[in-house]
Amino acid sequence: MKLSFIGLGAMGYPMARHLAKEHEVVVWNRTAEKAARHAREHGTRQANDLAECADAEAVITMLPTSKEVDEIVDRLLPSVKEGTLWIDATSGDPNVSRETAKRLAERGVAFVDAPVTGAVVGAENATLTIMIGGSPENFERAKEILQLCGKTLIHVGGIGAGHAIKVLTNTIMGATVWITSECLLVAKQFGIDMKTAFEVTNAGSGRSNASENLLPMRLRDHKWPLVFKLLHHDKDIRIASQLAHQQHASTPMLALTQQLFSGALNQLGNDADYIEVAKIVAEMNGAKWD
Ligand code: NDP
Repeated sequence: MKLSFIGLGAMGYPMARHLAKEHEVVVWNRTAEKAARHAREHGTRQANDLAECADAEAVITMLPTSKEVDEIVDRLLPSVKEGTLWIDATSGDPNVSRETAKRLAERGVAFVDAPVTGAVVGAENATLTIMIGGSPENFERAKEILQLCGKTLIHVGGIGAGHAIKVLTNTIMGATVWITSECLLVAKQFGIDMKTAFEVTNAGSGRSNASENLLPMRLRDHKWPLVFKLLHHDKDIRIASQLAHQQHASTPMLALTQQLFSGALNQLGNDADYIEVAKIVAEMNGAKWD
């Protein structure tokens, strides 16, 4: 199949590599050098001009937010072919996606939102979970392509449903990271060593992905890699907050999580990793993790 892949960032770069194992893949990236390197290393073809991406059976976008996706849609709309499937793997905004899908539908282009979870390691190993919003027929079309990038592909509902559930699950993770950091800090201040605190937490009912995988490396071993930008995580939680607002939902925990993450982003900056919010938890208490 002829595919175009737009956005070779931390996630897009390895995803496009997997697709190239079975498909003819044209790649485009804002910083062109990355696309040239992808073509050299993985047998894809670099699009010198974005317009070249219009000549494909499916166009895949993996960009920071729906805003950048819309800018690309605007640029490709005049040349994109009827019958094309647009797969947006960005963690985007479901309301924006629905409007984008309408604009594409006027040109006979189908749309699915297909955000992913599983982090960079999941993209590298093609073990991502991919949640897809769109018609059953377009889900099947997208699945045929994206199964090269992921292990679990789930049809969530109509257009936007994938984006909605993605930001909501990331919000659950954000709140869990924050509360686990708070409680472990109190344990530390009480004189319990971090190794023991993690051992007990992970053997009991406080166990989570945060306590088992995300926090021990940082709080106990003092390693703070950049895995997922806090900038992106904050964006996801803000979208979740807007969805709640839109539905007149009473969600005080969600609102607080959004406030805490936006405050942490303002303090830590756009280049921080999302788990660095634990540093803010310590700072709020005049403490340090080391
Ligand atoms: P990166 O920041 O690593 O990459 C972003 C990509 O978008 C780059 O290719 C960048 O190009 C491109 N880009 C940025 N701005 C523009 C623009 N204005 N016009 C065109 N291209 C642009 O992001 P990730 O790969 O980490 O994340 C991508 C999406 O996946 C986000 O929505 C994120 O929330 C989601 N996600 C990320 C995960 C992770 O662990 N990293 C896990 C799950 C989902 P350039 O190279 O020129 O900067």
